Amino acid sequence: NLESKATLHNGVKMPWVGLGVYKMKNDQEVVNAVKSALEIGYRSIDTAQFYDNEEGVGQAIKESGIPREEIFVTTKIWNTHQGYDLTLKTFEKSLEKLGMDYVDLYLVHWPVPGKYKETWKALEHLYEQKKVRAIGVSNFLIHHLEDLFQEAEIKPMVNQVEFHPQLFQKDLLNFCNEHQILLEAWSPLARGKYFGDPVLQELSQKYGKTPAQIMLRWDVQHGVVTIPKSTHVQRQKENADIFDFELTEEEMKALDGLNQDKRVGPHPDEFN
Ligand code: NAD
Repeated sequence: NLESKATLHNGVKMPWVGLGVYKMKNDQEVVNAVKSALEIGYRSIDTAQFYDNEEGVGQAIKESGIPREEIFVTTKIWNTHQGYDLTLKTFEKSLEKLGMDYVDLYLVHWPVPGKYKETWKALEHLYEQKKVRAIGVSNFLIHHLEDLFQEAEIKPMVNQVEFHPQLFQKDLLNFCNEHQILLEAWSPLARGKYFGDPVLQELSQKYGKTPAQIMLRWDVQHGVVTIPKSTHVQRQKENADIFDFELTEEEMKALDGLNQDKRVGPHPDEFN
């Protein structure tokens, strides 16, 4: 269920399913969405400096009355604010906006060339200061991780990347597993772009589950944390209701086979 958690390499636990809030407006939209998710039982929220809705996320958490320590909050440092000093400063702004004195997971949003190693040093510092319970990266390919390892004192606990059956990043997943880096899927539903796929439709029929639920179940069975986005209560419920069925090995392979290395978002080597 929504309480089941993955364990990061430093022992911190993170829910398998969380709510993504990209593109939600920093007004009643994000406040209502986060509140309804928390009511349903979500205990993990994924925001970012770039989403410009950290205030609303913080407000919703406060108003929910749920103790802060029961909720896993992720935010990220944006590309224009990378570098050692600016990251430390920007982190404080995020805390202020969230109205919190720590975050659970702080991520380097994209591997900005020439900047991300310095940025990582700032995240290590924040971790040592106990201002963050875990640190990680996002949109890092194998070559970025190998490069980061040259200087890092702490290995990232998480790598959040675009991941869904048409973009089954198998080599990256294996690499992360070898290094105890938990993979986290963004756009796990590929923003709804291929729910009509025949393999998804067939499994949907078989289990009485929606294509969205099949895609999210596929993540969890791969040991990948997932953060589908929805502002609608019914869809939030649906996206969380993936713990009462299990795909067979053969079905997992059929879904893996949908891979076309096809992205809905930018390629990490072409975006910064
Ligand atoms: P997603 O794959 O989660 O798709 C969300 C969209 O799918 C919704 O807007 C809605 O239209 C539809 N949807 C959701 N639930 C549905 C359901 N049950 N049935 C039918 N349609 C449904 O896409 P996303 O928002 O891009 O990704 C999820 C989260 O990942 C984001 O909100 C954000 O937190 C994170 N993210 C991170 C990065 C990064 O660079 N680190 C990039 C993009 C997104």
